[in-house]
Amino acid sequence: MLLIIKSYLLSDNVRVLKSEVSKTAYQGVFIAIAAIIIATCATSVFVTGEISLTGVMNAQKYNPGLWILDSIPFVFGFWGQYSSSIIAYQAGAMIVDQTQELRNRTDDLEKQTNYVTTHDPVTDLPNRTLFYDRVERAIFTAGNKELLLSILLIEIENFKDVYDTLGRNSSDIILKQISARLQGVCTERDSIAKLDGNIFAILLTDHADIGEAEQLAQYIQKALEQPFLVERLHFSVHSNVGIVHFPEHGEDVDSLVQRAGVALDLAQTSHKGYAIYDSSLDKHSPKRLTLMSELRRAIERSELELFYQAKVSIATQKLYGAEALLRWNHPKHGLISPDEFIPMAERTRMITQLTPWVLKQAFRNAGDWHKQGIELKVSVNLSAKDLHDTELPDYITGIAAVTGIKPEWIMLEITEGSVMRDPEHALNIINQLHAKGYQFSIDDFGTGYSSLAYLKKMPLTELKIDKSFVCDIINSENDAVIVKATINLAHNLGLQVTAEGVETKEIMEKLSEYGCDIAQGYYLNKPLSVKDFDEWMRSSEY
Ligand code: C2E
Ligand code: CA
Ligand code: CA
Repeated sequence: MLLIIKSYLLSDNVRVLKSEVSKTAYQGVFIAIAAIIIATCATSVFVTGEISLTGVMNAQKYNPGLWILDSIPFVFGFWGQYSSSIIAYQAGAMIVDQTQELRNRTDDLEKQTNYVTTHDPVTDLPNRTLFYDRVERAIFTAGNKELLLSILLIEIENFKDVYDTLGRNSSDIILKQISARLQGVCTERDSIAKLDGNIFAILLTDHADIGEAEQLAQYIQKALEQPFLVERLHFSVHSNVGIVHFPEHGEDVDSLVQRAGVALDLAQTSHKGYAIYDSSLDKHSPKRLTLMSELRRAIERSELELFYQAKVSIATQKLYGAEALLRWNHPKHGLISPDEFIPMAERTRMITQLTPWVLKQAFRNAGDWHKQGIELKVSVNLSAKDLHDTELPDYITGIAAVTGIKPEWIMLEITEGSVMRDPEHALNIINQLHAKGYQFSIDDFGTGYSSLAYLKKMPLTELKIDKSFVCDIINSENDAVIVKATINLAHNLGLQVTAEGVETKEIMEKLSEYGCDIAQGYYLNKPLSVKDFDEWMRSSEY
């Protein structure tokens, strides 16, 4: 194809240039003929004293100088044709060469961009996008030929510890070593990918029996058991493997990966370190399995709704803000709590569609309240995947512009776990949003990894003590101590403290005694629809 284009371009260029050079040659021929006529007439005048036919004929017959002159137009003609062809061909070839070079450079750039968007920068393995694409294609082929496929999800369980101990550069080296070992245990036809900070995936195509996937899981465990050598130190990683088979466990890539995630959870508690998906052990099943595919349509069918729960300032007993909590109004199952579908959506790509919806809706509600003169700070939950989405800051700026809200009306809730999955990327996004004026709250504090080092690095405004500690402060001395210490810690870091899970008046009073700033919980109100929340604001004492 390229050759055809090249020769076509060349002949085209030659034609144009040749006609230009030929034009000059024709002018030469014309000048030569004019010179012959003038010289002949001059000779005739010189010999006979006039310009006559006999004089002209005799001049041509007897004058050798004119014979030489007569040959000049032919010389010009030949020379013009010959040199025009050569020059035109050379010039044409030069242009084609230069165009070709430009085209090669464009091709290279295109390839590079393609590569960056489909590969993990650390390990060079395919990323989630490319892996999903490959699985989709494999499903298509396997479905037609009734072949077996398996997906193995491999999670490096203690990667966060490795990261904390070694830092980014050295943990990247471990990731590269893990990738190499995985490639070592796989065959050429298996596809390996890196889906997340600590999650790898392998697609096993057209294998004869499902035992092969299990055997591969055992090899993976063995291969990763050996310590990794970095900076002359030996590091061990703990891995879990979750396995699903197509078509037995799902018919599309989203449900397969989601169920491989369920198998991964089972693997964590299994002594073998790997597990095959089992719907009877899936606490997300059976209802939730079909939910995933329905969630996609839920947005279009307006089945999602944001509920709001009040945040009240303990010192002033005034309403401080409200947290937006997502609900799914399922036509068959009724109201579904986010705990039932958010973790699942986070495992697949669905969360990237849910968060924009939540943000738009919450910003719209915040805008409406402010227009009515109700100065609420609206808290919105972000998930781990959102903190890796480099487009999020611009997206949020766009929604803010459309809904006419100010960044200081919004509090973005993140969890330590979601930051720790890929701290550098997450921090980058958090800092960008913070620079635009958005405030951040660290949610579920105390439940995840509590890394004070990162807490200090993040531009936080608020710390939320998890409800599991708050609910019990009246009965559990332990929890009371934790809550009190956390409040002091947060205040020392310059953060305001919200306690969630405030279910009774006693808890509220105790929190007031501990110096807690804000309370949120059933004692104040349960999460309510916008209409009910408006009603609650009108009638409540806060
Ligand atoms: P969360 O952010 O920790 O939200 C607080 C949860 O505690 C809410 O559950 C709320 O209804 C519940 N809660 C509030 N007060 C009390 C109380 O006094 N006692 C008890 N026992 N529970 C209380 P909900 O609405 O079911 O949400 C569960 C989780 O789902 C949320 O936990 C949050 O992590 C997630 N979630 C909710 N909406 C969204 C969202 O729009 N995006 C994302 N990414 N996650 C969301
Ligand atoms: Ca929250
Ligand atoms: Ca929480």
